[in-house]
Amino acid sequence: MEGKVIKSTGSWYRVLTDTGTQYDCKIKGRFRIKGIRSTNPIAVGDHVNFHLLEKKDVGLITNIHERKNYLVRKSSKLSKASHIIAANLDQVFLIITTTFPRTLTGFIDRFLVTTEAYHIPTIIVFNKIDAYDDESRCLEYDLRKIYEGAGYKCISVSALKGDFIDDLKALMKDKVSLLSGHSGVGKSALINAIQPELKIRTGQISDYHNKGKHTTTFAEMHELDFGASIVDTPGIKGFGLYNFNKNEIAERFPEMRSIMRACRFNNCNHTHEPGCAVKEAVENGQIAESRYQNYLNILDDDYMDIQEWENK
Ligand code: ZN
Repeated sequence: MEGKVIKSTGSWYRVLTDTGTQYDCKIKGRFRIKGIRSTNPIAVGDHVNFHLLEKKDVGLITNIHERKNYLVRKSSKLSKASHIIAANLDQVFLIITTTFPRTLTGFIDRFLVTTEAYHIPTIIVFNKIDAYDDESRCLEYDLRKIYEGAGYKCISVSALKGDFIDDLKALMKDKVSLLSGHSGVGKSALINAIQPELKIRTGQISDYHNKGKHTTTFAEMHELDFGASIVDTPGIKGFGLYNFNKNEIAERFPEMRSIMRACRFNNCNHTHEPGCAVKEAVENGQIAESRYQNYLNILDDDYMDIQEWENK
């Protein structure tokens, strides 16, 4: 049998077949995927083969199909292992807010560097626009200018009021989208605004192996009525880049990519070198100061602990 993984709890995988049936599956033996040292060999979005065990509703995964792409983060600050967030994605929605809590650009830029590295188009969603005061509206305007300038699509919505949710749905149609963000950005509210019945539907699935406990610890894929798939991920507590070469970081900033060809030195790190076209572009406002500063911060330390940083 064949299907795609729609939920992963680390030891169990829920697989959805083409006929719409769901099976809880285990892995056969140890899966190793070349080039990745991962804490989870199979991720949400993976296409797999499995067969049913004697107990009829439980399957054994025997094969994983080649991935179109995947998104990886470091499992923890000091870890050399990675955690695959999801596989076979068409796009990522990064949900942010400029109020309660304000998303810092350090987080946004680390996230974007990762999706750039895996070549997954990323759309920035400003949520909670109903709650923005003048200051947060100004910040939204500034951030939109920075990120649209760097080539990212931005959309502003209100999950609470339902404003511009149809625009968001139009972007999601016929695609597999990952929804991500740190805690407090209103991701669950947004999903409920996109499809209010979703909560009820997920509630109907028997949760035998989770012992009825509904956690948001694991990524989960939902098929939506209007012809879209979304992968809901747990709120991010920390974000680190996995297996990055420092020389490649600047390449992950689209607005630096073309400019850096004009640097005097081929191996320019854009930090202190004379004749650096990137630094020049920052000085004349072509590259946003915050983007450049975050580039330097990432060179210095690729990991960002969101909780540590929220408590500051
Ligand atoms: Zn340079």
